[in-house]
Amino acid sequence: MKAEAHEEFRKKLTAQLSELTEAHLDHEKQIGESHTVRDFVGADRAAELENLEVDASVTESEINLAKKIQHALERIDNGTYGICEGCQGEIPTARLEAKPSVSLCLPCQEAHEA
Ligand SMILES: [Zn+2]
Repeated sequence: MKAEAHEEFRKKLTAQLSELTEAHLDHEKQIGESHTVRDFVGADRAAELENLEVDASVTESEINLAKKIQHALERIDNGTYGICEGCQGEIPTARLEAKPSVSLCLPCQEAHEA
């Protein structure tokens, strides 16, 4: 992959990361505001806990994605971006366009998930 293509992906990833960071901070704030100790002593306690679990899982997937994006940015820095971490082959540009944070080609991803 050419250096200027790397820069395009760097821009995409950086934008995605800052969006994610803002969304994540929003969630943290919402969780903090809507789930005070007082909320948990009411009759809706079970429902509240359910909601909290949903919020927590959203936050966790946000954190995971943020880590993937940071990892992709590191790979741009050290020149290995676009190389599959499984088979060392080139990840098709179309796949990177669709999901710039991927570090595996499709066959390796499928093998990894299987
Ligand atoms: Zn691969």
